[in-house]
Amino acid sequence: MASLSLSGSRDGVINAAKLDLLDREPAADITRDKERKSLERNFCSDTVTAPSPEMLAYAMKAVSLGDDVFGWDYCTNRLEEHVAKLCGKEAAIFVSSGTMGNQIAVKCLLDKPPFSVLSDYRAHIYTSEAGGLATNTGAASIPVVPSNGKYLSLEDVKTHAILSDDIHYATTRVIALENTIWGVIHPQESILEISKFARENGLKMHLDGARLWHVSVETGNSLKELCEPFDTISLCFSKGLGCPVGSIIVGPADTISLARRYRKLFGGAMRQIGMLAACASYALSHHIALLPNVHQKARKLAERIQDLGITITQPVDTCMVWFDPSPVGLKCEDIAERAQKLDKPIAMFPADRLVVHIQTSDEAIDDMVELLRKMAKEAKGGKLPSSNNTANRAPYPAKL
Ligand SMILES: *Cc1c(COP(=O)(O)O)cnc(C)c1O
Repeated sequence: MASLSLSGSRDGVINAAKLDLLDREPAADITRDKERKSLERNFCSDTVTAPSPEMLAYAMKAVSLGDDVFGWDYCTNRLEEHVAKLCGKEAAIFVSSGTMGNQIAVKCLLDKPPFSVLSDYRAHIYTSEAGGLATNTGAASIPVVPSNGKYLSLEDVKTHAILSDDIHYATTRVIALENTIWGVIHPQESILEISKFARENGLKMHLDGARLWHVSVETGNSLKELCEPFDTISLCFSKGLGCPVGSIIVGPADTISLARRYRKLFGGAMRQIGMLAACASYALSHHIALLPNVHQKARKLAERIQDLGITITQPVDTCMVWFDPSPVGLKCEDIAERAQKLDKPIAMFPADRLVVHIQTSDEAIDDMVELLRKMAKEAKGGKLPSSNNTANRAPYPAKL
């Protein structure tokens, strides 16, 4: 009888664990289609890009099942070797996010405090990683406002880097650049000047290359060329390339070995991630090719918005359109609210940025322009004070 009641409660435990995601109306695949459809009208960020049916099918076909913590996963190893080579570095390591990529890479470049990391005041590593640099490395941050309003120059770096060994200061050890920065391409000549200065002064160079793919296709510079001035580079697959998860750090073999240990320390070493590596390889093979068209669409969107009297506040080099609607009497928050209320809603942050991505539809762009035209007409050209002086604006709330 005891064993009967044990098996009874065992059944209870087993049944309680069950969860069937396919048990509802409408069926799960319909939800997925709706989600994909809504991405076509989402201008918040290119983080929203999601796996296409083709990517998922490829991943299911290519998936390997090795344990990556032991270095046994075929797809992950192939991906890491491929991207390292592509970027002209000795080694690469897959990580779960761009944040983890930046944090681990910079931690690898630092030894012991006191020290500081210099970056643009808008850099993701400074604004949007939960203050991780301080927590994870003990480094002080030196956020710098670029004097040209677009990207850091050698002069900006020279002015703010702390080279002195005066005991009052946290000496700068790493310059962390970001390319693209706010969608703007940091010209390679400027990066080379900064890296020459860094080398001469024993500083390390990290690049947040979340969207370095965009720079590479837009400029025709190889990733190897773009990565050459840096010790470490982190690149994102989930940002703009449609992968569900994943970023990668590239750098020298010894640095990447250390990164493997830090990834473990951060709890970010993952087991059977072949499926994620397969998605990333699909994105490299098929989605980078779509980026020139994305940039073209963004530029077209910017031109059409500008024709309405709205100011475009940053060069539209890649996929982002930064704008100031105050000359036509509009506020970003109001635009976002109205966009959400359209019969076919458009999503955007209540902020001065629209992001075009590989899943943005032409119809969404037309509808966005039409909404702005209508709202500008309603506002009857009444101007509002500009809230868009980027030089004076705090980097918060950051936009991812
Ligand atoms: C989004 C982003 C990251 C971080 O990526 P997550 O995967 O969201 O952690 C890093 N750098 C830049 C420039 C980004 O835009």
